[in-house]
Amino acid sequence: EVRPELGPTIGVGARPFDAASIRRDFPILRQYVHGKPLIWLDNAATTQKPQAVIDRISSFYENENSNIHRAAHTLAARATDAYEAAREKTRRFINAPSTNDIIFVRGTTEAINLIAQSYGRRNVKKGDEILITWLEHHANIVPWQMLCAETGAILKVAPVDDKGQVRLDEYEKLLSRRTRIVSFTMVANAIGTVTPAKDMIDMAHRLGSCVIADAAQAVSHMPVDVQALDCDFLVFSGHKVFGPTGIGVVYGKQQVLEAMPPWQGGGNMIADVTFEKTIYQPPPGRFEAGTGNIADAVGLGAAFDYLDTIGMANIAAYEHELLIYATEGLKSVPGLRIIGCADEKAGVFSLVLDGCRSEDVGAALDREGIAVRSGHHCAQPILRRFGLETTVRPSLALYNTFDDIDALVAALRRISVSQR
Ligand code: PLP
Repeated sequence: EVRPELGPTIGVGARPFDAASIRRDFPILRQYVHGKPLIWLDNAATTQKPQAVIDRISSFYENENSNIHRAAHTLAARATDAYEAAREKTRRFINAPSTNDIIFVRGTTEAINLIAQSYGRRNVKKGDEILITWLEHHANIVPWQMLCAETGAILKVAPVDDKGQVRLDEYEKLLSRRTRIVSFTMVANAIGTVTPAKDMIDMAHRLGSCVIADAAQAVSHMPVDVQALDCDFLVFSGHKVFGPTGIGVVYGKQQVLEAMPPWQGGGNMIADVTFEKTIYQPPPGRFEAGTGNIADAVGLGAAFDYLDTIGMANIAAYEHELLIYATEGLKSVPGLRIIGCADEKAGVFSLVLDGCRSEDVGAALDREGIAVRSGHHCAQPILRRFGLETTVRPSLALYNTFDDIDALVAALRRISVSQR
């Protein structure tokens, strides 16, 4: 049954949205922690896996396991089919034009390093500029610093306002014909800001820059369509979208990938090798040297199948209701501050409780069975922008319920009161 009022264009689910029944699809959520039912609110760090993904990985190892693309035997054909089917599912999930545009990597971090080292080294020269924003995860800062150190390029950073939103006027001023690469997050992992990705991409393209969208935090919360965005690259990690760890995705526009040199050399990525000369495969093979993470790619495909039954637009609509409910609840906790209040936000909260250390709040919540992240969330610059070193970060996913939010708010209230 589809909810037509939500008007989704991609990811229309086949089943009505019911968080309680969705929750039952995730076996880990049935357990107790410190005698309390587990409430998983650390989704920005990693998401839990539905039974369908767990079963698909087991079934791969039970029935299909082989290296791929190499041998003329039955299991090699099965494993290759399963791996390439996962690539097609990935293509469909982000609406890429072709499976040739989908490269499997270990995760977002490896994805950005691949682009920096292959596209970046080829296209960035001394005095060129690379533009990021203050919202970025370290994975979208450090590879660019490394590339700048190597090439003599300059890293520029677009500032945010007091709500944690990218200042588009400043972003536009920082763009110039010298800007070779713009790389920014679609959802800020530390404070939940949803960036105006399409506008930022269009502005960068007007000045001829290549644009990378970091969708690590976006893909579990909202439909993502690379053709509508028109980004040159889009990257994400499987483990943040209900798939396994150790598998991630680089989407790249065909003409951009074709012009890129390989990043790592070895088996699989070649068409022919002599000691004098090696001919490389076309993309995506050129960028998948060695034996990849075959089983987990297959598991990621199963995660997309699972999400298809629910519909990303339905998930986005549900999480929006949850976000509003949680914001109201959190605001009622004495001494609690929410860091970042962007007009467009996904379900990630950064919290500070007056007089309490983030680690202590995290530990106190854990004693109540509630898992959140406390720390700097691999995004020190944006926390420092707000004068902080650490926050407590509850983050939502499709299996969280209004009861989970009530439990979080009640626990924070108890922690806050006990400090007074
Ligand atoms: N980018 C963003 C926005 C993230 O939230 C994360 C992880 O938290 C990353 C990149 C890095 O992802 P991974 O550690 O899976 O490579």
